[in-house]
Amino acid sequence: MEFKSYSTHAHCEMLDITGDVSAFLTANADKGWKDGFVCVYSPHTTCAVTINEGYDPDVRTDMLAFFSKLVPANWGFRHAEGNSDAHIKTSLMGASCLVPVENGRLALGQWQTVYLCEFDGPRMRRLCFSFVRAE
Ligand code: ZN
Repeated sequence: MEFKSYSTHAHCEMLDITGDVSAFLTANADKGWKDGFVCVYSPHTTCAVTINEGYDPDVRTDMLAFFSKLVPANWGFRHAEGNSDAHIKTSLMGASCLVPVENGRLALGQWQTVYLCEFDGPRMRRLCFSFVRAE
């Protein structure tokens, strides 16, 4: 299990971390991992992880815009910290994802990218990477 730190740059942002998932496999090449998944986990309550299109940057722009309309910050939440919208968006996206590995290499679909999803930035985040074997 390894942790990697990120600094996000906007209040809401989807950061491409696919290269880091790949680098995690490369850095552990001596372990003989063949088929399974890299689990990418966010130990935060306002920062999620997801897989979606990385080819057209308008897709993530549209997703963030839609999420902001779906969960408006001024809805009238009770949470005193004032960031319930970020908590809800994080649960909708999810705290982790499994990235498939086949024969030691990432097996993402052609248009897929792994994203750290910041919903209450900018701030420092860290993600946990681990390998899960599939037999
Ligand atoms: Zn909060």
